[in-house]
Amino acid sequence: MRKLATTWCIRGGIFCLLAIVSSCQAVPLKNTNLNEVAKVESSAALCETELAAIWTNFPAARANHCEITAPNKLVLTISPENQPINKSAWYGFKIVPKRASIKHGSILYVNLKYAYGHHRYSPKISYDGKNWVLLDPAKIEILSKTNVRLSIPLDDRPVMIAAQEIFSNSAHNQWAENLASTTKSNIGKSVEGRPIYKLETRSGSAKKPYVFIVGRQHPPETTGALALMPFVETLLGDTVLAHRFRDKYGVIIVPNINPDGVWHGHWRHNINGIDLNRDWGPFTQPETKAIENELKRFKEGGDKIVLFLDFHSTYRNLFYTQTDGEPTRPANFSRDWLGAANARLGDNIYAFTREQSPNSGKPTSKNYMYSRYKIPAITYEVGDKTDRDAIALAAEIFASEMMKKLIEWNPSHE
Ligand SMILES: [Zn+2]
Repeated sequence: MRKLATTWCIRGGIFCLLAIVSSCQAVPLKNTNLNEVAKVESSAALCETELAAIWTNFPAARANHCEITAPNKLVLTISPENQPINKSAWYGFKIVPKRASIKHGSILYVNLKYAYGHHRYSPKISYDGKNWVLLDPAKIEILSKTNVRLSIPLDDRPVMIAAQEIFSNSAHNQWAENLASTTKSNIGKSVEGRPIYKLETRSGSAKKPYVFIVGRQHPPETTGALALMPFVETLLGDTVLAHRFRDKYGVIIVPNINPDGVWHGHWRHNINGIDLNRDWGPFTQPETKAIENELKRFKEGGDKIVLFLDFHSTYRNLFYTQTDGEPTRPANFSRDWLGAANARLGDNIYAFTREQSPNSGKPTSKNYMYSRYKIPAITYEVGDKTDRDAIALAAEIFASEMMKKLIEWNPSHE
């Protein structure tokens, strides 16, 4: 057993991960929050027992109701923002122990009761909002699909517990602000007025075809964000390959499309209760409308687009691509790209599948971008439980192989 404490560092304007290994009983996770999670004004705890108070006064917190059943026991009801909805039951809360009441060995028993859906995410804990570890499985009792009991040892420190590492809007923003080789600008606002921003490579004088990358349509899908960052950093890197790539191509990244959902600890939707990844085409929401406006430049006679990637999370690592029967330009890109990456990664490092997924007619980003531009439009799905180091390593390799394929591509040969 080991513990991997991780710290973000800045090198050459690009964030990197510095891993420090020491021995302990926790399972390693990446540090995903660049700032200590900011406090939100809130007048009262959700509930208080004799031992501790439960707070939900921070970004991405979610616990809808608290019932105290004994001095050391409580039940937190976890509900989605609305129904029906995918069963991505997100939760996040902070336990603040009462120092005068707790003794050595004090335990708070917290039942997570799901009012909809079921237990999906193994709890992660953090004492500083930056470094997260998996809660020891011995402290998790799955009583049923909708009732899970956590045994939380209390000491004098507040502890945050969440479905996945909390990767807040401010963390996204700080990452974006410090990226090399790009310009950051706002392309719209969310329903609640939070900025939707893009990062765009500086093109120089030549017009270049673009790779378009989006992320965080679905707030709990933080492993997708953990892949997007190193993927993008690799494209923007100071390597020979990255320079050759950027000589030929531009990149636009919209890393955080649903900041209201991220803030409120939503399971999937924006604040209006809309699944943004079912709104590409209708573009009824300000978040997707910002994308629609940004895409207007890619029209006949305008800028060219060659590839679209949308980062998400699901139960395992996979890529939803066009089928081999759906022609794209570049031709056979997803097959060749993912094949090349697989040859380097192998199943031991990062097992994944390519799922040929025909256009279902749903207004998803993938279907919209393929229908409109006939480019490879790919959903990059990362497993909820995938090892965080493997996510980062694989993202770098996927990015490198993507760059190689696009550099090699000669449109006049098609
Ligand atoms: Zn998703």
